[in-house]
Amino acid sequence: MIKLIYHTFLNMLFPPKCPVCRCYVGQQGEWCMRCLEQVLSIRTINVGQHHLKYLDECQVLCQYRSGMKKIIQHIKFYQALKYVPHIHWLLNREGDLVSFKCIDIVSAVPLHESRLKSRGYNQSEKFFYPWIKEKGWLWQNLLMRKKDTVPQYELSSKERQKNIKNAFVMRPNYNIQDCTILLVDDIFTTGVTMDECAKVLKSAGAKKVIGLALATDAEY
Ligand SMILES: [Zn+2]
Repeated sequence: MIKLIYHTFLNMLFPPKCPVCRCYVGQQGEWCMRCLEQVLSIRTINVGQHHLKYLDECQVLCQYRSGMKKIIQHIKFYQALKYVPHIHWLLNREGDLVSFKCIDIVSAVPLHESRLKSRGYNQSEKFFYPWIKEKGWLWQNLLMRKKDTVPQYELSSKERQKNIKNAFVMRPNYNIQDCTILLVDDIFTTGVTMDECAKVLKSAGAKKVIGLALATDAEY
């Protein structure tokens, strides 16, 4: 009841709008169908074609363009957390279309400590955590980023590989022997970051590592 009053009050003060075109929508976090259709593209990435050695499979929800690109960039670089409910709405509506079976642990691609301090949060955790909790899956921050890498988008494909090599280690005291891990990240570009994480998880005993990214600019 209190929740209902709170939401009615919130909707009166801030009428819900699409995060992209700002047209009025039915509830907080919602996208209008036109803007949603421009970015929504649930599909499986071809890990073989990307020459990924450790990541067993990977699914993505959206194209990294127009509204989705704007939202992710604003959350990452301008602390615009007001957009986070729009990601949650999208995951709640479309997330069940990604099909994963027997996930033991969910973990996010980690940020380096210094970036986590300056940004204040890991955006992938902000995006996925409530949805994962809702599903009843176990979330554990298994990995640590020991190398303070240059942002991948500033680099060529070769440089990306070199930049990210040996950037991650397992956090102590986690047993992931024979576990299937779902690794979440905001953007899939070449997959080298996820693959590097998968390498560490596999060498710590993981049976399978599956990727899930919110958006991609990859063609295949
Ligand atoms: Zn719209």
